[in-house]
Amino acid sequence: ETLTHRIAAGEVVERPASIVKELVENAVDAGATEITVELEQGGCGLIRVTDNGGGINAEDVSLAFARHATSKISEFDDLYRVRSFGFRGEALASIASISRTELVSRTPDVLAGVRIIVEAGEILEITEAGCPVGTTVTVSRIFDSVPVRKKFLKAETTERAYCLDVITRMALANSDVRIRVLAKGRELFSYPATHRLAERIALVLGSGDADRMQPIESSRDGLRIYGFASRPDFTCATTRQIYAFVNRRYVKDYLLNHAVMTAYRRVIEPRRYPAVVLYVDPDPADVDVNVHPAKLEVRFRQPRLVYETIVEALSSMLRDVGP
Ligand code: ADP
Ligand code: MG
Repeated sequence: ETLTHRIAAGEVVERPASIVKELVENAVDAGATEITVELEQGGCGLIRVTDNGGGINAEDVSLAFARHATSKISEFDDLYRVRSFGFRGEALASIASISRTELVSRTPDVLAGVRIIVEAGEILEITEAGCPVGTTVTVSRIFDSVPVRKKFLKAETTERAYCLDVITRMALANSDVRIRVLAKGRELFSYPATHRLAERIALVLGSGDADRMQPIESSRDGLRIYGFASRPDFTCATTRQIYAFVNRRYVKDYLLNHAVMTAYRRVIEPRRYPAVVLYVDPDPADVDVNVHPAKLEVRFRQPRLVYETIVEALSSMLRDVGP
C-alpha cells in the first residue's frame, strides 16, 4: 500500500459518510433485503453495515479488497451500461487502506463463512467464521493512518448528520429494502420494506410533509420520470428537500434542479423551494454516471429530453392541483 494509494483513497473516502455510502451500496448490490447500519461517534469511531445479501466466497474475499480487481468495467463502452452501483471495484480497497476493516461473510451454499481483517491496506488475517448468510463489514480506526484527513473531519454531530443524510438517500432510493440505523446501541430509525414508494417517502420525510406532496409521472422515448412533489402551498427555505435519483442512484445535478425550479418558478415565491423526490430512469445506455469519483453528477446522452420531461411532469401536476 503506497502513499499514492492512500491519497487516491481520499477520492472515494472523504469522510465517514462516504464509507457508509459505499458499504450500503455494496449491500444493495448483493441483493440484500435487510440492511442495518451502526454508527459510533457519528461514524468517526466505528461504522458497521450488516446485510442479508448473497455474501462473498472465501476464495474471492481477498480479491474484494484488491484495487480494481473486481471492477465490472471491461471496456470503456461499459461505462454506459452500468446497472448496479458497484463498478469501479475500489471502494473496499480504499476504505481498508485508511482504516481497520473487518468483513465477515457467508454465501448460502456453504456452512462456514469467512472473516478477513485488513488494516491500513495490509491483510492481517483470513479465517473461517460462523455467521449467517450475508455480510457484515465493520470499519474502525478511520483515518488513523492518514492524520491529515482525520484533522479535516468536523464535529461528531456534523459527521453523524452527513452519515444520516446518506442513509436518507439510500432509503429513498431503495424502498423495497428494510433499513435500520443504530447508534449507541439504540435504534435511531427503522424503515420497513415496502412496495409503496409513497409509504417510504412518508416515513423518511415525515408524514406531514409527504401529505402535502403529489405523485408525478411522465414517460417519453424510453425515459421514465416519476416521484412525488409538493403542492405550491408547501415550500421550504432551502433546496435540501429536493432529492433526485437517476436509475436509483442519488445525484446532485444542476440540470435536474434547474428543471425542477423552472416548473415551480411561476407558482412559488422567490427564494422558496419545493419538496421533491424525483426518480429519473433513462435507459442505462443513455447515461454516464461516472463523471465524478463520488458519483453525484451524471451526464445524459439526451439532456433536453430529460429536462423537458421533468418540467412537463411537474407542470402537469401543478396545473392539476391549481394555485
Ligand atoms: P465494487 O462494488 O465497485 O465492485 P467494492 O470495492 O465496493 O467494488 O467491492 C468489491 C467487491 O466485493 C464487490 O464487487 C463484491 O463482489 C464484493 N462485496 C463487497 N461488499 C459486499 C457485500 N456486502 N456482499 C457481497 N459482496 C460484497
Ligand atoms: Mg461497491
